[in-house]
Amino acid sequence: MRPNASRIRLPLLALILLLSSAQALADASRRAPWTEDSLRPSLAVTIDDLPVGPPSRHDLDQQTRITERLLAVLRARAVPAIGFVNEARLEREGELDPERVALLRRWLDAGMALGNHGYEHLSLHRVEPEIWIEDALRGDIVTRRLLAERGMTPVWFRHPYLHVGRSAEIQRMTAQALAERGYRIAPVTVDNGEWVYADAYARAWNANDRESMERIGRDYLRYMLEMVVFYENQSLAIVGEPIPQTLLIHANALNADYLGPLLDALSERGYRFVDLEQATKHPAYQRPIHGYTGPGGITWLHRWALTAGVDASVFRGEPEVPDWVDALRHASSVDGAN
Ligand SMILES: [Zn+2]
Repeated sequence: MRPNASRIRLPLLALILLLSSAQALADASRRAPWTEDSLRPSLAVTIDDLPVGPPSRHDLDQQTRITERLLAVLRARAVPAIGFVNEARLEREGELDPERVALLRRWLDAGMALGNHGYEHLSLHRVEPEIWIEDALRGDIVTRRLLAERGMTPVWFRHPYLHVGRSAEIQRMTAQALAERGYRIAPVTVDNGEWVYADAYARAWNANDRESMERIGRDYLRYMLEMVVFYENQSLAIVGEPIPQTLLIHANALNADYLGPLLDALSERGYRFVDLEQATKHPAYQRPIHGYTGPGGITWLHRWALTAGVDASVFRGEPEVPDWVDALRHASSVDGAN
């Protein structure tokens, strides 16, 4: 990670030669050492809070723009993403809005998958499990119909806030209810504070504050790459080898503008993009998660580790969202997400 330290001890001539190709070297130092295609790391992109998430309280035109841009970015790079829907967001004044439903059709038209993220985005840690299950099963009425038009059924469920239950018994009964409806639980390994950046970005976007947007966007890319590297190392420490990672982000204005550069930076690092089905074929994803019943919406890597009794000191060093991003977010009154 620190190749510059050795470079400064090089003889002067070598240093001059080095400087003449400084850009090429900088590019090379960013590249990960995966040379063979079969060894390249892989990552599944999962996008929550469809059609468009709560930090971005946008009108239909803006939601359409966000959706179009996200899908254009994914298609241009042939990235197979899955979008997780909150069907309550498809309604206006209690009625299903056909134009918001049409936004979901665009995801399927673009070749993306759709999953269930609960009807109303309820936390399993804040309501009774029976109420939560009812909401979860109510969350796919429209999505199931859209998928059926194409001969498909919903497969994946993503827990709102990544809250999977405060006891092993609640985890078991809710997982069983989901399985009976044909669902698999969608894991997340690269958890992150993207939603903090998204909140701040949505405020700047609505205020047309281009300077803040660029500043937030640039730091978002830096932070997310550091986070991916952190979870590469967590994977080595916890599983003992690199695993296909599952990335969680949200459908919002931030990603409409910055998902493209983020995917390009990940490609440059060596990543290839796979769907959730492919990523979760790695045996690590069979590991149990019931050992964590705390309040956090944490990564599956840490759930596996805690369930296996691994010392939590291995989790240290997670990159943090800088205070200035959080401060920009509090310039507006918006909800958090996940
Ligand atoms: Zn969510």
